[in-house]
Amino acid sequence: MNLLESVQRGLAELDAQGLRRRLRVADSACSAHMTVDGRDIIGFASNDYLGLAAHPALVAAFGEGAERYGSGSGGSHLLGGHSRAHAKLEDELASFVGAFSDAPRALFFSTGYMANLAAMTALTGKDATIFSDALNHASLIDGARLSRAKIEIYPHADTAALAALLDASDATTKLIVTDTVFSMDGDIAPLAALVALAERHGAWLVVDDAHGFGVLGPQGRGALAAAALRSPHLVYVGTLGKAAGVAGAFVCAHETVIEWFVQRARSYIFTTAAPPAVAHAVSASLKVIGGDEGDARRAHLAELITRTRALLRATRWTPVDSHTAVQPLVIGSNEATLAVMDALDAHGLWVPAIRPPTVPAGTSRLRVSLSAAHSFDDLARLEAALVAASEASA
Ligand SMILES: *Cc1c(COP(=O)(O)O)cnc(C)c1O
Repeated sequence: MNLLESVQRGLAELDAQGLRRRLRVADSACSAHMTVDGRDIIGFASNDYLGLAAHPALVAAFGEGAERYGSGSGGSHLLGGHSRAHAKLEDELASFVGAFSDAPRALFFSTGYMANLAAMTALTGKDATIFSDALNHASLIDGARLSRAKIEIYPHADTAALAALLDASDATTKLIVTDTVFSMDGDIAPLAALVALAERHGAWLVVDDAHGFGVLGPQGRGALAAAALRSPHLVYVGTLGKAAGVAGAFVCAHETVIEWFVQRARSYIFTTAAPPAVAHAVSASLKVIGGDEGDARRAHLAELITRTRALLRATRWTPVDSHTAVQPLVIGSNEATLAVMDALDAHGLWVPAIRPPTVPAGTSRLRVSLSAAHSFDDLARLEAALVAASEASA
């Protein structure tokens, strides 16, 4: 068989199902107003929730970090690549989000994907069971598979179903894992109930706060701070390429747990440390996030969220009840979703279509992602384009 032909058949199938994805090329920095594929657009696609991805203080820190530490780290963290910038950032992150633990320590990773592989594999093994929310992020799913633990998937946010699975389990090690803010629906996990279950059943609770860090809680300290939760069972994952506007991620937990990660987490050990300049820029980002400017940006984002909820309800489609920066509008079929996406595109608006397998079949949606960089005028443009598309398809 011709190998290329079989791959081409696969691609043709994706085309036929409206599932082929297309890369777009940004010619400018990530912001509300961008040049993409040579056109000026308003972007509602990024995870740059606080509008920090092109912030002058972060850009300057990136340059300063490169001047001081060079362009590359030169090695893995355990073999020469661990810089003062990484170490300092880890201390800052632990004090920023670590109030849930008596002795918090943070460990910096190159990406959230790799942090999640570590969180799923380092504490588990063949004798463990991982209890995973049905809508968890792909990186958690992949990490769970890599761990060789048994995997129990509980219905989305259903703590009664999870309790029943935990009751029935005789695994020696149990680990519950959940997104905090679910990335395709924007809803928030029942974190207090999950902490209670973890404590009752002697389980770890890994929370992936990719969409909450920097946005939720006092000073943007994240979903655990927002809910004022404390427990030695908690393992917190935050990512630094979304609200923080740079790149990378971290795991924060009790210092003993983190020391174990340093010894055992393969996605920490067997990879080159991210450039120290990245860590240096994240330190600058933390100052903005935790300061008055961060508060002002979060307040503006909250107002954008309120207005977007109202404008999405006025369309003929079905908004998901979300109070976060992720505001999905469920259209239904892939074709209809792509048609609305194209209609918005014609108005110079980039609102991405989310299709299976990212979301269940028949629930394809537009995912309006808000940023503090958006103005109310940008929202008015979105509203006008949605009204036009809504009428055109009625
Ligand atoms: C984006 C994301 C990740 C991955 O983080 P990266 O730093 O982009 O690799 C993990 N979990 C969730 C829920 C995410 O949305």
